Amino acid sequence: MSAEVEVILRSPDSYGVARKALELMELHKVWPTPINYELWTYCIGDPDGPLATEIRRLLSGGEPITEAVSEDLAAAYLPKGKVNEQIRDAGDQLSRELETVAKAIEEASRSSETYGATLADASKELTQDQGADAVRKLVNHLSEATRRVQRENKSLEKRLKDSTSEVGRLKEHLEQVRRDATTDSLTNLANRKAFDEELARAREDSQATGNSLCLAVLDIDHFKRFNDTWGHQTGDQVLRYVASVIGRLAAPPRFAARYGGEEFGMLFPSESVAEVCQVLEEIREEVASRLLRRRSTNEELGAITISAGMAQLHPNEPVVCLIERADAALYASKRGGRNRVTNAEELAVGAAA
Ligand code: GH3
Ligand code: MG
Ligand code: MG
Repeated sequence: MSAEVEVILRSPDSYGVARKALELMELHKVWPTPINYELWTYCIGDPDGPLATEIRRLLSGGEPITEAVSEDLAAAYLPKGKVNEQIRDAGDQLSRELETVAKAIEEASRSSETYGATLADASKELTQDQGADAVRKLVNHLSEATRRVQRENKSLEKRLKDSTSEVGRLKEHLEQVRRDATTDSLTNLANRKAFDEELARAREDSQATGNSLCLAVLDIDHFKRFNDTWGHQTGDQVLRYVASVIGRLAAPPRFAARYGGEEFGMLFPSESVAEVCQVLEEIREEVASRLLRRRSTNEELGAITISAGMAQLHPNEPVVCLIERADAALYASKRGGRNRVTNAEELAVGAAA
């Protein structure tokens, strides 16, 4: 798919493609952000491809293409462009830098070998009977060799210093790229990719140590209605607010992420079910108790509520089953009237009773 689109974007037709992309975005009320522009351009390049099919499915289902949806689409369907390219470039620069350092060290060790040989020759000459002139010549020769080695050491030192700071800069850059790739840009919480990785890691740990691991899923109640009433921008503010409440109670070893649209995931290693339920209650109460106002107009938006479901990992339980049980608990909270927390274990007891 990428090759075809590449051709289109570099042909005389490309202005037509750009206009068409803009027209389609306007038609579907999608903001012409760079990411959407990229998505729509790819759709035009590959109208029957998986991305175009998914976008058609979302639009026909009335699903708004929010920033988060666009990001998910880009991550799932666009060629893994920028992030990977940046990582590759930084990696190339790092290995070039390391090559330079290795060469400088090799040169320095060669020149100190030569210096060593010069000293050995001098000591041999000094053991023979020498006139004052010959000794002076020898001393001059040795001083010259010493100065040369000092010069070379200085230049090696400078090269190492430059390389160290360049490697430091590249390390920071890679760290930034890694952070961007694992962070949700709207809420600054971890994204789903990071959450899935952390969940797999936490499960392994729990299996190995026998320590408890709880997973919670939190979902904003009637958020579609809220968006329909107040608009997406205000909806985004609410997402940021809920994320900030969750983030405050998610200091390590806990872990929180925006799992999807208006849904969040939390991991609680080494905490009891009762402790986790208490934290979730705290989040629920804090969100429900705050009367929200629209930032632009100061209008009262009323209160927002969230529902949550949590499950504790069973021995040898696969991740998908744990997620399914937490999800089932979340849906029990929704069915039970929302604005509540349900523990999957109680649900299982309730179902068995
Ligand atoms: P429920 O209480 O059953 O969870 O109802 P709901 O309306 O919250 O759930 P539903 O899944 O029907 O709708 C979720 C809505 O979340 C749809 C969409 O309008 C909104 N949404 C998802 N992602 C974003 C986003 O990034 N920004 C905004 N503003 N809204 C979003
Ligand atoms: Mg919801
Ligand atoms: Mg939801």
